[in-house]
Amino acid sequence: MKKMTTADWQTLRENLTLDGKAFINGKRVAGDNSETATTPIDNSALTEVAFCSEAQTNEAVAYARQTFEKGVWKNRSPATKKAVLHRFADLLEANRQELALLETLDTGKPISHSYAHDLQGVINCVRWYAEGVDKIYGEIPTTGEGSLALVQREPIGVIGGILPWNFPLLLLSWKVAPALALGNSIVIKPSEKTSLSTLRFAEIAHEAGIPDGVFSVVPGWGQDVGATLSLHQDIDSLVFTGSTATAKRLLIAAGQSNMKRVSAETGGKSANIVFADCYDLDKAAEGAVHGVFYNQGQVCIAGTRLLVEESIYDDFIAKVIDKASYYTPGNPLDSDCTMGCLIDDEHTAAVTQHIDNAIAEGAELLLDGRGAGHNQVGPTIFKTTPKHSVACEEVFGPVLSVMTFSNEEEAIAIANDSIYGLGAAVWTAELNKAHRVASALQAGSVFINNYNDGDMTVPWGGYKQSGTGCDKSFHALDKFSELKMTWINLNAG
Ligand code: NAD
Repeated sequence: MKKMTTADWQTLRENLTLDGKAFINGKRVAGDNSETATTPIDNSALTEVAFCSEAQTNEAVAYARQTFEKGVWKNRSPATKKAVLHRFADLLEANRQELALLETLDTGKPISHSYAHDLQGVINCVRWYAEGVDKIYGEIPTTGEGSLALVQREPIGVIGGILPWNFPLLLLSWKVAPALALGNSIVIKPSEKTSLSTLRFAEIAHEAGIPDGVFSVVPGWGQDVGATLSLHQDIDSLVFTGSTATAKRLLIAAGQSNMKRVSAETGGKSANIVFADCYDLDKAAEGAVHGVFYNQGQVCIAGTRLLVEESIYDDFIAKVIDKASYYTPGNPLDSDCTMGCLIDDEHTAAVTQHIDNAIAEGAELLLDGRGAGHNQVGPTIFKTTPKHSVACEEVFGPVLSVMTFSNEEEAIAIANDSIYGLGAAVWTAELNKAHRVASALQAGSVFINNYNDGDMTVPWGGYKQSGTGCDKSFHALDKFSELKMTWINLNAG
């Protein structure tokens, strides 16, 4: 397919039909309430989006329960489920331009990133779990003579999914694809800031053959729709991506209702450690820049704390500042744009406030990205101590805190001194040191001589307050299934 130009995207935008109605029981339905969705690109109105009521949320859950109990999806053969999910991936591919455009209009991220990275990740994810449908085996443990025990993975039932706004479709696919591959029914609440692509995704799933009621989308506020899902007596598993603060509320709600399983992928303040014996400082500087400024810095695993060995600080920081110019704020609908908009005015103000606070606390401003444009902040770099608030709090914007260390122990101590434990990276040419440091770091993913490699085959999850449970790979199936243990007496009769 020919590469889309800026003009092509503009034309597609002019001809785009936007539909913000909810998707319940296989149909588009008006919300009991609604809000106007706007794009952060220029704050212009996109369309009205349904904001569902408690009654509508309950209705979606009731359909999910009915379909699950009747087995309308669960009891389809593995071959059928697999074919439907592959058809779903084919249709996502066929609608890729439209979905990428919706994603950019809703989030303000560069269109080339939506199309090339987010949508590719979504399609890969759906295909990966489609292939997995008939490759999920049970176990026969080695028990004593006279008995046989079977361990089988069964779908857990009705899943509630609550999602954030930074990668609406990608993170959605990480929840929906494994849920459906196992035969569950699922009700999704997208972020109130980014509902449009999720609604279209559900419609496409339905077109691919997911039956009515198995996968519904109820847009709305967290305190309404989200809270209703979290307290619901008929949801078996709540799968969440978002902030640590919201995850804590969901854990309380599970305790107050039916003890539903809660898994949460939450915030981060990841440390990226560069040792003086790093094999290639240019590559490490590129890794540091892409690791923190991609997606306008709105990435949970962003390497927001750069720890540099003292002896190379001057050389290395010069390279980082130089390479940061790759991320120049521009028009997200320009096909060459590398840095788009932050999600909205409120978040832009919050990111700017973090920068202002860091300056007031005496952190040294090395690169100032403030005032870059409407809802835009360019790459911003501070030299800090580990105690400056900008080096401790999740900013969720393009703001990097650089610190120095003098030896391995100090680097590990600074890196681990955080409530979070999502990611960390180590750059060194020494194999033993790489493994030693990686094993000492308290993080779900540790990258050695790269930042943020990933694949569907490898789980994604955090230590400490960065989350519970994993997305991606077969490990994610734990969120969506129960283990059934069956004991057979071989001497009966
Ligand atoms: P958020 O917690 O504010 O919102 C996430 C979702 O929770 C939204 O749909 C929101 O409406 C809902 N919600 C809010 N209050 C609720 C309540 N009381 N009850 C139920 N639902 C409620 O997070 P956000 O601002 O949308 O996303 C940014 C956060 O997400 C950052 O902290 C980021 O690190 C994290 N994140 C983590 C990962 C990961 O995989 N670990 C990935 C992406 C984003």
